[in-house]
This record gives sequence, structure tokens and C-alpha cells, in this order.
Amino acid sequence: MNHQHTDRVTPPRTDKLLFTPGPLTTSSTVKQAMLRDLGSRDAEFVEVVQGIRQRLLALAGVSQAAGYEAILMQGSGTFGIEALVSSVIPRDGKLLVIINGAYGKRIRDIAQRHGIETVTIEVAENTPAIPQQVSESLAGNNGITHVALVHCETSSGVLNPVQEIGAVVKGFQRTFIVDAMSSFGGIPLDVIESGIDYLAASANKCLEGVPGISFVIAKHAQLLASGDAARSVSLDLLAQWQGLENNGQFRFTPPTHVILALHQALLELDEEGGVAGRAKRYASNHATLLKGMRRMGLREYVPAESQSHIITTFLFPQDPKFKFEEFYQSLSDRGMVIYPGKLNEVDCFRIGNIGHLFENDIESLLNAIEATLTDMGVIISKQFANH
Ligand SMILES: *Cc1c(COP(=O)(O)O)cnc(C)c1O
Repeated sequence: MNHQHTDRVTPPRTDKLLFTPGPLTTSSTVKQAMLRDLGSRDAEFVEVVQGIRQRLLALAGVSQAAGYEAILMQGSGTFGIEALVSSVIPRDGKLLVIINGAYGKRIRDIAQRHGIETVTIEVAENTPAIPQQVSESLAGNNGITHVALVHCETSSGVLNPVQEIGAVVKGFQRTFIVDAMSSFGGIPLDVIESGIDYLAASANKCLEGVPGISFVIAKHAQLLASGDAARSVSLDLLAQWQGLENNGQFRFTPPTHVILALHQALLELDEEGGVAGRAKRYASNHATLLKGMRRMGLREYVPAESQSHIITTFLFPQDPKFKFEEFYQSLSDRGMVIYPGKLNEVDCFRIGNIGHLFENDIESLLNAIEATLTDMGVIISKQFANH
């Protein structure tokens, strides 16, 4: 092993660009924020944590005064979802999970693993969830206490109608849980208007932090009412909140460096103009991507009107000369990392627009894709050249 000793703070920019939904490309200032060793009980660290919790509430358009709390939880996004699902649904509760992709299924799997009674509604992976089906399910299953929905289903990029479904859930006076992992901070979402009681997200998606911390925005009254429902010690959401409230500290070792990076990432989100500013850049990344891909004859799996500007699923070109492994490797050799598909029904790959990526990065990716397809001998269609 070669143990280099260096004081250089800024590493050379040799990392590949990540067109993936997290981990993603982060700014060098976010990376630099991690180059400190703060104690978890240090007053400065406690203040950083408190500041992050306030900023997360503000991003959600809520506040403690309005009756909401932000609870940070160690681990990737799934740990936050599992903390939420396993902590707030009572033993005699029943969860309705609306599924149109891998992340909806994951919520169902988590609930079932914890012995929570679960019912599901499934629609095709390129189709948004249907409010009418939720209404029918709630009318027919009176035992349902909680409803869970994924905002942007990252497995396809389809965007679900959170506000409409929230209105249905509220109409039946049930508790509404939203997995906004891949949308929070990058797609405007009105938590109050949508009747969201619990929202889960993580640092390493639209907030452009690094992986290692997730969080839940919770309605205070609901959180307290969950009592001793938690089925896990480390993922006990109410206990985690009580710890943070009592002395500003985590119950168990926090990922201090990751939290410092999140703090910096949130400052940079503010500088970009908050959720609106970031959404604008992502939407423009997405538009540039679609235009270039369509020009090459590549087709999207999700109809345009149901797509998010977070991640886009493209169908494999029909040409038998197209080999995904080769395509992926060639792009990677050119310094661009894309994402394989995660769908059962179709052969596809995904391209994320989130992270510290700009118009020129999308252009670079498009150029690399064009060069790669040309090298592979895959016929590139120019028929959409006027789009
Ligand atoms: C990323 C993501 C998660 C969490 O995944 P991790 O790999 O645990 O971070 C959950 N739901 C959605 C919709 C996501 O995009």
C-alpha cells in the first residue's frame, strides 16, 4: 500500500460523472466539508445538526411551530423508510402500499418483515398511481390505518400524484406516508396541502449530499401518538427524535462527516434558489437529455406527461448490435456512469439528471452515447432531428 501524505485539499477532478440517482456527483465544496473531525457531542456539531433539522423543515414548507418535526436517522434512505414504517404503525394497524415500481415493493417488504398487516394496489411501472383506486380500497377495507406512496418512483422515473392521493387519504382520515427520497429538494411538494403526515428522504439525492444519513419529516402529534410501536431499537423513530430534542445528540454514533457534508449541501441548495432553483436546473438537464436522446432515436419507457425530471428510463434500441454491458462499459471508459434498468417487464437503462450536473455535462454524455452507438454499429436515427 502506498500511503501518500498530502495537504492538498482539492483532489484532481478525475472522478467519473455519475448520471445515477445517488450516490451522485457532488460539488467539491460538499466533499471538502467532510475534511474535519468533529466530536459528536461537540457544541459546534450539535448546532450543525439543529441547523440541518430547521432547514429540512423549511424545505418541506413546514416548521415546528406548524406542528412538524425533522428526525435524522443514520443510514441510507432505506434505513429511514424502515425506521418510519416500523415505528409509527401500531400493532393492530394496517398499511395500504401503492406500488408501481421497486421502491413501492420495498415498502411492502419492510412492512411484511415487521409483521405489519399489508394490502397493496399495483399499477404498471410506467403508469402513475390512480387516486380512484385508493379511494375504492379505503372504502372497502376499513381496517386500513396508513397509506404509503412513493413520490417519484426512481425505478422508472414516473411521478405519482401525491396531492390528489393525499386528498383521498385525508378524506378517509387515514395517515399518509410518502417516500420522497428521490424528489425532496428537487421537485416542489406541498406537504401541508398534500396532507402528508410522514415524509422520508435522504441526503444523497436532490439535496446533493453524500450517502449515510436519511431523515423523516413528521407531524408532531402523530409521532407522539405512535407510542411504543417501534419494532427496532436502532431504528426507533420516536426515541431518535426524543434524543435529538433532549440534548441535540444522536443516540448512537452519527456519521459526522456525512452530516457536515449535508450541512454544506443545504447551504448550496439555498444559494441555488432553494427547491425552485434546483428544480429549474434539473428540468433543463432533463429537457436537454430528452432532446438529444430522441434525436438519436432512443425512446422513453414512461410517457412524457408522467415523467419526472429526476431520472429517465430509456428502452434498449431494437438493433441486435446493441449490447448493454458494452454500452455501459464504453460510457464508463469515457468517464460517464449511467444506471442499469430496474424493471421486470422491459429491457431498459436509466439516466439520472440529479447531482452537481449541468447542461454541458448532459451534452458530454450525449456525445459519449452517440460515439458509443456509432462504435457499436448501432444505427442512429435522425428522424426526430426537428424535435
Ligand atoms: C434511493 C431511494 C430509496 C432509498 O434507497 P437507498 O439505496 O437505501 O438510499 C428509497 N426510495 C426511493 C424512491 C429512492 O429513490
